[in-house]
Amino acid sequence: MPVKSAGVLLERAARAMGYTAFLAPFAILSQPFNGRPACIHCGFCNGFGCEVAAKSSTAVTMIPQALATGNCELRTGCTVSRINTSDDGRVNEVVYWEEDGTEQAQLAKAVVLCANGAETPRLLFLSASAQHPDGLANSSGMVGRNLMFNGSSNAAGLFPEAINGHKSIATTRVIHDFYSIDPKHGFYGGGGIDSRSLTRGLPMASAMRRGIFSGASWGSDFKRGLAEEFTHTASFNGHCTTLPLSSNNITLDPEVKDKWGRPALRTTFMNHPDDIATMKFFHDISMELLDAAGAIKKVGSYARNGQTGGVHLLGTCRMGDDPATSVVDRFNRAHDVPNLFMVDGSSMVTSGRGQPTVTIMALAFRAADHIIQAARRNEIWRTGTRESRQGMAKVAGVSGFEPETHGLEGRCSIQLSYTPMTRTRH
Ligand SMILES: Cc1cc2nc3c(=O)[nH]c(=O)nc-3n(C[C@H](O)[C@H](O)[C@H](O)COP(=O)(O)OP(=O)(O)OC[C@H]3O[C@@H](n4cnc5c(N)ncnc54)[C@H](O)[C@@H]3O)c2cc1C
Ligand code: SF4
Repeated sequence: MPVKSAGVLLERAARAMGYTAFLAPFAILSQPFNGRPACIHCGFCNGFGCEVAAKSSTAVTMIPQALATGNCELRTGCTVSRINTSDDGRVNEVVYWEEDGTEQAQLAKAVVLCANGAETPRLLFLSASAQHPDGLANSSGMVGRNLMFNGSSNAAGLFPEAINGHKSIATTRVIHDFYSIDPKHGFYGGGGIDSRSLTRGLPMASAMRRGIFSGASWGSDFKRGLAEEFTHTASFNGHCTTLPLSSNNITLDPEVKDKWGRPALRTTFMNHPDDIATMKFFHDISMELLDAAGAIKKVGSYARNGQTGGVHLLGTCRMGDDPATSVVDRFNRAHDVPNLFMVDGSSMVTSGRGQPTVTIMALAFRAADHIIQAARRNEIWRTGTRESRQGMAKVAGVSGFEPETHGLEGRCSIQLSYTPMTRTRH
């Protein structure tokens, strides 16, 4: 990908300060590949779908491949309400609403739950049963705990020349000189600094910042400031560690309900003091980098109060060898339920250094291989039972496997043969 202006500024500043800015890794096509075109640099990457399918989301990579096998069915617009268990505590059914509210139930030999670090624990809590009174797969009491978001810092600079950060992909250069901060600083942490547009390149988001450098929030001065700030601003952003703390968690809200009448998610979160020190560290270095890059004005922030939040939802069904202190094993299989797998950000034990998704994907591929092997060993479902004779489930990130009909020789197919059962809603 061609380097953006903000990347050039970061490179220049890094060189001046003795750091190394290198190509930011991105799952975006720079050249046509596999029937998909190259990026057209429209600038709407961050938070939006890609109109030409150059951004490698699962919607244009994995899912079409799975559908092309003929062994996968995608049911869109559905919301899972609970996962049911049989008398022996194994999962055997997924209950969900179709878009129009019709309730369906899908029998399942195995369930792979991939609803993310917030919704996966919520569904496990909502799936409590006589066999799993504290929530499905929660005999350890660890479901929902150790929520992590990744820390961040933001340092924005106004430059005399046009930057036009709203064009093209989010970032092209990153510094990893502080991937692991020297312990001599007195706290644990690490991460990277990349160069971005201040407001994800969105004109309205820029306007909502209300004259961040000009100070004016209305009238002609505001308009002049807005025109200058939208085009002449670069942001050096820190992305860093969040430590796992058992007190940071997802639980069910006792009062608030969603539109389906389910208890809403309740998030309890306060950063560890080392997380705040790490964010400050990245904030301070980024402000120095802005000076070195030639910014004429600058402003920075980080979550001084320890109340970070964000789009990286990690750690609420942590992986581990000990069933007393973790929810899934090293291959994402629930310790308590041999035919249940949690394969998403929830299994992460640490927050890594910033962007978690490639790690989540790598763990998912590894889990898939092990699910196939476990199925071959007949460990996941038992032959001759009701489960083994009936269909399998896939519900928005929940996949089932059907070795009898599609065989496990070679590769395990994702098989979604099923017998939907329409139920009346209460
Ligand atoms: C704006 C934005 C920018 C980001 N940028 C980056 C980045 O640059 N790099 C990076 O590494 N990460 C980035 N992330 C984070 C990345 O998107 C997540 O880490 C990743 O998607 C997590 O994968 P997951 O499988 O855990 O969950 P998700 O991708 O969240 O998948 C969960 C799926 O389950 C579905 N679901 C949940 N509950 C139910 C239910 N009850 N019934 C049916 N379906 C349900 C959801 O609709 C969703 O489709 C970004 C996220 C956002 C929002
Ligand atoms: S900038 Fe992002 S959204 Fe736009 S074409 Fe490129 S990859 Fe797609």
